[in-house]
Amino acid sequence: MTSLASFPTPTKISKPAPYLISFEWSDGRTTTITLRAFRDACPCASCKGETIMGKTYTFGMQVMKPGMYDLANIQAVGNYAIQADWKDGHNTGIYSWDILRGAAEEFALSDEQIRALAEQAAKEGLAKS
Ligand SMILES: [Zn+2]
Repeated sequence: MTSLASFPTPTKISKPAPYLISFEWSDGRTTTITLRAFRDACPCASCKGETIMGKTYTFGMQVMKPGMYDLANIQAVGNYAIQADWKDGHNTGIYSWDILRGAAEEFALSDEQIRALAEQAAKEGLAKS
């Protein structure tokens, strides 16, 4: 048995911007990633593919759907994971703490990147109106 006890657990999850998700961890770290990175890290079989006989098969999640990178809800699954509910109706992704922490570390944004994204979002907002 591998214990997950050694993995930090998220103590707070927030959305500092409509396109960002931020995690505060039990070890004191705070990581912010884009919702896009969070969705792309979805560990479910239809996103990640299933490994059958050493080959990985994916099932057509390459198509971009409206609401795909829009988070509707997050709920706790026991005390070991969270489940993300996306606005395109996808909700089979269960992020255990090790997967979550791995994605948060891999895609963590610097303050500078967060600022650049905010500027970009503001510009796109202006361009649309
Ligand atoms: Zn998925």
